[in-house]
Amino acid sequence: MADSKDYYEILGVSKNATDEEIKKAYRSMAKKYHPDAQQGEQAKKDAEVKFKEINEAYSVLSDQNKRAQYDRFGSNFEQAGFGGNAGYGGFGGFDFSGFGNGMGVDIDLDDILGSVFGGGFGGFGQKSKKTGPTRGADLRYNMNISFEEAAFGTKREINVSKNEVCDVCHGSGAKPGSKVVTCDKCHGSGKVQTTQNTIMGTFATVKTCDKCGGEGKVITEPCEKCNKRGTVRKTKKITVNIPAGIDNGQAISIHGEGDCGKKGGPAGDLFVVVNVAPHKIFTRNGFDISETIKVPFAKLTLGGTIKVPTLEDEVEYNIPEGTQTGTKFRLKEKGIQNIHGRGRGNLEFTVVVDIPRKLNDEQRELLTKFAASFGDEVNTKKKGFFGR
Ligand SMILES: [Zn+2]
Ligand SMILES: [Zn+2]
Repeated sequence: MADSKDYYEILGVSKNATDEEIKKAYRSMAKKYHPDAQQGEQAKKDAEVKFKEINEAYSVLSDQNKRAQYDRFGSNFEQAGFGGNAGYGGFGGFDFSGFGNGMGVDIDLDDILGSVFGGGFGGFGQKSKKTGPTRGADLRYNMNISFEEAAFGTKREINVSKNEVCDVCHGSGAKPGSKVVTCDKCHGSGKVQTTQNTIMGTFATVKTCDKCGGEGKVITEPCEKCNKRGTVRKTKKITVNIPAGIDNGQAISIHGEGDCGKKGGPAGDLFVVVNVAPHKIFTRNGFDISETIKVPFAKLTLGGTIKVPTLEDEVEYNIPEGTQTGTKFRLKEKGIQNIHGRGRGNLEFTVVVDIPRKLNDEQRELLTKFAASFGDEVNTKKKGFFGR
């Protein structure tokens, strides 16, 4: 600090400037010469010097005592007994104590920091985006299958659209034979550090290199097929084995058939989610199935053999005399294969009375006689019987 500097000139204000004018000038200068606002290395370096100067000027002119001393002695404080140890320990590492607490300086710290770090401390200690191998995304495929396919299992071929490693550049994203060079801005680290001297002191900020996007390497000629992405969208035919016993909403995971990974990372998985169509007669509950069978009144009354549809075929079942409508019967292990491989569920059927809608004269007469034998009064006219 041997040379006298014109702090007023640095801030572009007159010697009679008010505190308010000085503050205003400082803010606009600090913004203008903020190193982060500059394009190119040299411009940043130049701005850094200027930025430091502006902060130095402001720290003095914004303090009434210091400004008075400066007005009298210039910036050569040593001569004025005002040296580096006389209250504010030298420039470039300002003592900030007392700043903004009644010393004629009223400055918004957040404002300064915001201008220095581009909006608060968000960028402070920011991690570099440079990453190693990453796993590809999992994919979901919805598949409609029939009730029987779910019960017995099936094999299906599906077309899945997914990201695969580009076969031209093998994932590098660069045109084959072209150079992938180490980023000259970050020297391969993917990070750039800038040091800024502010009225708060000296700060180092580390940011993701904007030239290489944090990769540390720069592709000189992009792959013509994938344009640097390293992956291409492809439709792949995949055979899916649907195991017997799968239920609605369940998924089959196929390892490694999701999107490909990046930089040699593993591919994601493919999840085939099944939507099982309802059956026209069976209802499923876990591995058990159920159905309802209509049985004529006489058969329920006298007992007899009925045909029971099953998943595979039909079986005969003898219902006993006097079976009431709504009675449930069970056929063991005629349900659905347990997906975990242990046996099958059961088939439960419910018998309900099947009331005839049409009778011939003979049947009508027999039924009337039958009713009479119980002392029941029934309609004898046809209209009445079918009047409902
Ligand atoms: Zn490619
Ligand atoms: Zn870089």
